[in-house]
Amino acid sequence: SKAHVVVVGGGFGGATAAKTLRSLDADLNITLIEPKANYITCPGSNWLFAGLKTLPQLSVDYQALTDRHRVRVVADNVASIDRDRRRLQLSGGQTLAYDRLILSPGIAFQRDAIAGYSPDMANVFPHAWQAGAQTLLLNRQLQAMPAGGVVLIVAPPDPYRCPPGPYERASMMACWLKQHNSRAKIIILDPKRSFSKQALFEAGWRQHFGYGTTDSMIEWHTLADNPITRLDAQARTVISDFGDRFRGDVLNIIPAQTAATLAIDAGLTDKSGWCPVNPKTAQSLFDQHIHVIGDAAHFTPIPKSAFAANSEAKACAVAVFSLLNQQEVPAPNWLNICYSLITPKHGISVAGVYQLDSEHAVAAIKGAGGTSRVGAGDLSLLEANYAQSAYRSLVNNSFR
Ligand code: FAD
Repeated sequence: SKAHVVVVGGGFGGATAAKTLRSLDADLNITLIEPKANYITCPGSNWLFAGLKTLPQLSVDYQALTDRHRVRVVADNVASIDRDRRRLQLSGGQTLAYDRLILSPGIAFQRDAIAGYSPDMANVFPHAWQAGAQTLLLNRQLQAMPAGGVVLIVAPPDPYRCPPGPYERASMMACWLKQHNSRAKIIILDPKRSFSKQALFEAGWRQHFGYGTTDSMIEWHTLADNPITRLDAQARTVISDFGDRFRGDVLNIIPAQTAATLAIDAGLTDKSGWCPVNPKTAQSLFDQHIHVIGDAAHFTPIPKSAFAANSEAKACAVAVFSLLNQQEVPAPNWLNICYSLITPKHGISVAGVYQLDSEHAVAAIKGAGGTSRVGAGDLSLLEANYAQSAYRSLVNNSFR
């Protein structure tokens, strides 16, 4: 009988893996398990703060995977993985056997990284790092802020999903505030010493939001030696290791991250909290029948992005197909392109191309990829348009 490949998680990684497997093998038995009927993309979700997108415009369903690509989509949650018997237990009660399992379950948030911040706090101080209801809540809070109020963005430590995300979010919020609450401030408190596309963001903030002057709408503070460790929810205040207090009218606390709970519970993570894999095949170092891709997997130096998850999924599907057919797994290449908007008309980007080095580790190919130039003038407008079309292409390529 035909082999059964089960894919868990219908995000960019999982959807792309299922679709690619079908394009490689017309007869393979492919099941995708994802509890949500509608997946809301994190890419584009920062644009909502500048009024460029609505949640319905960021939603995709699994119709094309089902109808066009003949993937069996099961709307359920995987409760546990019985690795010895190669069986999944679904929350709805069903069990499912697999020959090979592809996991793309995304992220979870570290508990206790900030004392006083519990998972339910996210309903008051939304991280909005999994797009959906929290994105809308954060947007309502932004719009309801008193004149001259302060938004605090507590950025996460590395590694985390979407390295430029917090800074794009600050930019998009600033676009709205500039028009509706011009004395307001956005203060980014960062446990890192530097961040993705920093020179480009700072140049854009200087151009549009007075960055570097006393009137700047955006401030960035590195707290590398003195990170935020406590939340005083009552006082809407975050407190650093040395006791410095920062009060905000809106608190966007983006906690430190790990691989999703399912991967942790299945014993597929190491002490970093992420899943180590053999990059060539995406096989877990702890289980050769399980492949892990997307944010949950450790593919460093490839950043955790939807574009990267799509690229890892394609290479993984080729590896799974090859292994099932006892063929040699070809050496993969991976690609990542991350666009960010500073304003609706000012886009910036970073691109990287990756391959295996002589030690079988992932390495960026020198001279391939790069970032936009600071002060690129009219090219920034073009890049803003590219950002929109790259988003549409990535969604279509992954889900349709
Ligand atoms: P996810 O997309 O998180 O998908 C995981 C899926 O697994 C979820 O649908 C979940 O429901 C499901 N799942 C989890 N556990 C289980 C279980 N036990 N059983 C069944 N299903 C389960 N990337 C870009 O490339 N470009 C961008 O512009 C960009 N912008 C971003 C902006 C923001 C604000 C954020 C937060 C992220 C952004 N990203 C961007 C990053 C991108 O969203 C992630 O890298 C991407 O979603 C990773 O895909 P994934 O498949 O690993 O995980």
